[in-house]
Amino acid sequence: MAANIERRVRATIVGSLPKPGWLAGPGEIVASWRLDSARLKEGQEDAVRIWIAAQEKAGLDIVTDGEQRRQHYIWGFLQGLEGIDTVNLAMRAQRAQRYHKEIAAARLIGGPEWRGPIFVDALRATLAMTDRPVKVTLPGPMTIVDSLVDTVGGRSEAVLAMRFAELLNIEARALAEAGASVVQFDEPCFNVYVDKVKDWGIAALERAIAGVTATTSIHICYGYGTADVKRWKSGNSDWSHYGHTLPLLAKTSIDQVSIETAASGVDVSVISEIRGKDVLLGVVDVGSETVESADTVADRLRAALRHVDPGHLHACTDCGMVPLSRGAAEGKLRALVAGAALVNATLS
Ligand code: ZN
Repeated sequence: MAANIERRVRATIVGSLPKPGWLAGPGEIVASWRLDSARLKEGQEDAVRIWIAAQEKAGLDIVTDGEQRRQHYIWGFLQGLEGIDTVNLAMRAQRAQRYHKEIAAARLIGGPEWRGPIFVDALRATLAMTDRPVKVTLPGPMTIVDSLVDTVGGRSEAVLAMRFAELLNIEARALAEAGASVVQFDEPCFNVYVDKVKDWGIAALERAIAGVTATTSIHICYGYGTADVKRWKSGNSDWSHYGHTLPLLAKTSIDQVSIETAASGVDVSVISEIRGKDVLLGVVDVGSETVESADTVADRLRAALRHVDPGHLHACTDCGMVPLSRGAAEGKLRALVAGAALVNATLS
């Protein structure tokens, strides 16, 4: 239900932001909390407050809690379900071994079953801190299934993904009812398994967003800006993944698609495949501490405006900024807004 009455380019981020050094180790993708359990929740809320203020001061149109309360972008959701063990991990190949041979994964040990709303209380706390629209991110069904060791067995990936989609749908609808303006599903795996996207990924996504009364979004990227991902990118020459996936997404009821263009070889013209949907265009590189100039952001947005109306374009990060320094992330927030402002100043 994306209502695009505005004619200007807006600014937002994919989701995560760096955790302060007093909360977790700098740059950690899986946070090792530095506060004991008695002080952790208060510390997480303070970290959210810091980042809400930074996003408001920068001038972002839609804000997030920076995922300050989550240990990991997938586990934050999984830890709220029955049947997932995120303590005793197991090694498995993930992302078709694109970035690592094997990586430690949470284990599915039962269910999965619903235990109750996972992020609703956190969303209410965030909404109490800001008047801006708030986005909440959830891991997508395909990415969850690719990131779990299934010790239960007996179900295909497609069947298991559909089970997670049902649970994600319950959460997404609860978040929308509690006041989330945008509910976003993070699906980096859509850029890995393009055949599975066609075979069952799109169906699982549709199941996850069915009846959700907020704006719905999907984030598809080439991973965090970590050393392993950057190594793969520097040797990669096939950037055709969005070309397979966006025509399929064009036929879905998803409102927004977040794609990475700043640090990849993706030709921005591919966004013409999703005309009518909001494009969250990655115009800042999350794998570099160097803050983009407003002119660089504006140039990237103008290139996109040949293929999308300004009211459907958002200046966005390529991916989450959790691995970056706080200073770099703050600078990139400001660059997004400044770049969008340069473009908006020249729109009639
Ligand atoms: Zn991403």
